[in-house]
Amino acid sequence: MSSTSAAAYVTLTAVDNSIEGADFLRRRAEVLAAQTRGLEPNSDERRRMLTKVATYAEDWMAALPSLPGQVPDDDDAVAALDGREIAETATDIDAVLEALWSGVDRVGVNESSGRFFGYIPGSGTYLGALGDYLAAVTNRYVGVKPAGPGAVRLERRVLAWIASWLGYPPDCGGDLTSGGSIATQTAVVTAREAAPVEPEDIRRTVVYLTAQTHHAVDKALRIAGLKRAVYRRIPVDAAFRMRAEALNEAIRQDRKAGLRPWLVVASAGSTDTGAIDPLPALADICAAHDVWFHVDAAYGGAFALCEPGRRKLAGIERSDSVVFDPHKGLFVPWGTGVVLIKDRNAMARAHAYQAAYLADFSADLGAHDPSPADLSPELTRPFRGLRVWMTLQLAGVGALRAALEEKLVLAEYAHLRLGEREDIEVGPPPDLSVVIFRWVPRDRDSNEANHQLNHALQDDGRIYLSSTIIDGQVTLRLAILNARTHLAHVDDAIDAIVDMTKKL
Ligand SMILES: *Cc1c(COP(=O)(O)O)cnc(C)c1O
Repeated sequence: MSSTSAAAYVTLTAVDNSIEGADFLRRRAEVLAAQTRGLEPNSDERRRMLTKVATYAEDWMAALPSLPGQVPDDDDAVAALDGREIAETATDIDAVLEALWSGVDRVGVNESSGRFFGYIPGSGTYLGALGDYLAAVTNRYVGVKPAGPGAVRLERRVLAWIASWLGYPPDCGGDLTSGGSIATQTAVVTAREAAPVEPEDIRRTVVYLTAQTHHAVDKALRIAGLKRAVYRRIPVDAAFRMRAEALNEAIRQDRKAGLRPWLVVASAGSTDTGAIDPLPALADICAAHDVWFHVDAAYGGAFALCEPGRRKLAGIERSDSVVFDPHKGLFVPWGTGVVLIKDRNAMARAHAYQAAYLADFSADLGAHDPSPADLSPELTRPFRGLRVWMTLQLAGVGALRAALEEKLVLAEYAHLRLGEREDIEVGPPPDLSVVIFRWVPRDRDSNEANHQLNHALQDDGRIYLSSTIIDGQVTLRLAILNARTHLAHVDDAIDAIVDMTKKL
């Protein structure tokens, strides 16, 4: 309400009630305050609700090992939510939790399950959820440093820790984002401003990627106003990795033609196949041609934490920017992405902002802890770092390191076991933890057969796989990244796949 209409409202009601203005307002404020009681439960009520919520969470955690990878869409279950009206007065927590259970948590794919192998799995750490609970209760403000110096420092510590094992300097720019997509957008906008790519340059500006590049990159470029730039899809080799010599040649040709090579996007763990582009060779080419080198490690980045993964990801430290999703590889709840940009000032030039109402919080870019808002498209945002920090503190990094190496081992194992079957054709040995394969029965079209197999497995629900299309071929993927996926789950998955091929 504008101040004029607010004043008009006050005057009218005060006159109608024939009471002195200030007295009337005082009484009205007290009546309204009494009606807000439901917003602030007392200590007994809080304990009662928290116990119910904790019991719900405990029931979920206890059921998880036996919950399927997916419960197929169930309109009746979801309709339970429609029956739960959003009412004028408070509803008891039992009824609320019942609606949540039947309408939300019982249906759809179950990313928290060790039997979930679709897309790129998440997990959700219980330890991270405890951090989310506290972050929401205390509601610390992490947009600007002076408002929450401790919270901002904690997030910087998390970013510096990630930077340390991705090989980035401690004073690099970085932001905790809602996910890989916004992290990618932050990197693209920073690279655009660093060049800079002016509107009149767009049509001669060239981006290099492959057919395997995640669509989040195309989306980020489009949102950044660059959809009219020139896109060069560089061919990949038999293991789906960008051909470095083809990239070098494309850049040379473009330069000669008067175009402006600007950005190379490498995948360090592509979504379809988990392939890692040849990072050292690409880094050399980008350095030689003075092109921004971006690495999309949203899925694969976490593997740099364990020794075998670190070797596979060598060269990632030579990029100008990198994106990594803790809500995938560090297993924490959804809503956690990271972008690191080697040149912190470039990131600030693209994102820092001054506003009259923030004058108390003037940008201090040289500071050890810059304000997150100066390096981010966001101002106010959740205290995302706490869910990562709590997970690291309460589990210990060793547990995460082991979980990641375990996924690499399980992927190699699944590749070997699937490869033993005559009617299954496996893809190249996995660079990371995605195993691709196709069922190739003699008696029918294999695209049709793989569609059928995928749907039959999804309907069965014991495990959840997803498919993709590579070079026109329907291909199944076993993406092994859930923290709860262990050997027994991979054995279950292989058994389910083999059983199903026999039934179909
Ligand atoms: C998941 C993913 C993204 C997108 O990240 P979101 O967190 O889903 O926004 C981008 N690139 C790759 C390689 C991914 O695996």
